Amino acid sequence: METFNHFINGAAVAPASGEYIDTDNPYTGEVWGRIARGTAADVDAAAAAAAAAFPGWKATTPTARGKLLVKLAELIERDAEHLGEMEVRDNGKLIAEMGAQAKLTAEWYRYYGGLADKLEGSVIPLDRPGILNYTKHEPLGVVGLITAWNSPLLLLAWKLAAALAAGNTAVIKPSEFTSTSTLAFAELFGEAGFPPGIVNVVTGLGHECGQAMVDHPDIVKIAFTGSDTTGQRIYEGAAKNLKKVTLELGGKSPNIVFDDAEFEAAVMGVISGIFAATGQTCIAGSRALVHRSIHDAFVERLVEVAGSATIGDPMSYDTHVGPVTTEPQFQKVLDYIKIAQEGGATCVLGGDIYDGPGASGTRFVQPTVFTNVTNDMRIAQEEVFGPVLSVIPFDTEAEAITIANDINFGLAAGVWTQNLGRAMRASDALNAGTVWVNTYRAVGFNSPFGGWKRSGLGRESGIEGMMEYVQTKSVWMAQESSVANPFIMR
Ligand code: NDP
Repeated sequence: METFNHFINGAAVAPASGEYIDTDNPYTGEVWGRIARGTAADVDAAAAAAAAAFPGWKATTPTARGKLLVKLAELIERDAEHLGEMEVRDNGKLIAEMGAQAKLTAEWYRYYGGLADKLEGSVIPLDRPGILNYTKHEPLGVVGLITAWNSPLLLLAWKLAAALAAGNTAVIKPSEFTSTSTLAFAELFGEAGFPPGIVNVVTGLGHECGQAMVDHPDIVKIAFTGSDTTGQRIYEGAAKNLKKVTLELGGKSPNIVFDDAEFEAAVMGVISGIFAATGQTCIAGSRALVHRSIHDAFVERLVEVAGSATIGDPMSYDTHVGPVTTEPQFQKVLDYIKIAQEGGATCVLGGDIYDGPGASGTRFVQPTVFTNVTNDMRIAQEEVFGPVLSVIPFDTEAEAITIANDINFGLAAGVWTQNLGRAMRASDALNAGTVWVNTYRAVGFNSPFGGWKRSGLGRESGIEGMMEYVQTKSVWMAQESSVANPFIMR
């Protein structure tokens, strides 16, 4: 049984309460470690360390900050296999994905390391002679970064790399279910040459430790990835201190298949949208909208391919679908299967717990496909965050767009068509932060990502992602220091 403490000011720190939380392996159900149960006192210590480190980090030249981030990227690549394995042990996602993802994570640090000294202000051509007015981007201060359990290190990179490049210091809280990879990652900062205190990690429960970050007066911004309900609570809490927020929330993304789509590619695209990562992704394409003329053949092939998925040990490279990460999430997925059935949807694949070959522990759900779904059903409107797909037929392009947009979320959307004009029209008409045409589930360090509607506020990745961590200062410098009339505005 391994014990993990907070990481504050460059060192492991035991929780003030002396309490720990068990952490288990979703595949075996075995409790293999325990993490510190953080409280307000621990958040206080982490925020104090980050605040003390802030002036020095802000004064470090952007080029020097960038070099440290690039060095960090190299260390992540060196340790990617180990970090990926830690994530699999914590969240049960496939090693085939998490190993590659840990390596890819390095690219965010490399990209923002390069961007650190390229964020330029501007000189404003004022209509007043003798005054120079320029703008510069300055860091915010201590930022609080709270992540979900599905991809801890990747979701953190989207926030932390930009925040550090911009000159902020950080207090991080990973999900209570998947904290260990973030703690192991934090150890790399010292090796890369970062002074202590710039990055601090506190672990614990959301409503205790996370809430203490939202309430802390010295944490000036919260960047959060998680559900829309928690996001809303954080937004309300942040408003009390007028904190800035970035919210990356849930989704119920449509994956639209037109009758002119490349059939087999679209089938694979829909499958990758919902069954990869056991459906536990914010961008899950959980609503497949399929043109009525190909609906039956499409469903038949979908069921054939999804039904042949190998379910089992996430550490095996042959596995396609792993366990659901947490016990509450497992129950939630089963509840939604029941809700779909009671709502009148027809289950054409799965629909139950999986206890066949490869299953271990108790948290496997069969890849599940529902037809006869209408967009007003709860299974079509609410995020399941599991391997459950709803297929909805449509007749016209306009109807597809109407159904796609008839939802509270707006994180992503997929379009499958060979018609260029249709691809352009649909991309314009879809209310989503990301639209993929003839592909799905692709993200990049230099492409902004974020949600519309209840899917979030702000953007991560790319130059826009860095702008979330700076504030603009406008400087006015007069050649002459005389003030002609002090009683009127200049
Ligand atoms: P939650 O909203 O339950 O939790 C997210 C994080 O917030 C966790 O670290 C959690 O801690 C913490 N938290 C919970 N309550 C509070 C609180 N009152 N104050 C501060 N922090 C709190 O989401 P899940 O972890 O269940 O993740 C799944 C959700 O994340 C899905 O809705 C998914 O769509 C979304 N997501 C969005 C992404 C995006 O980029 N848009 C990407 C990935 C996931 P604890 O774990 O201890 O409860």
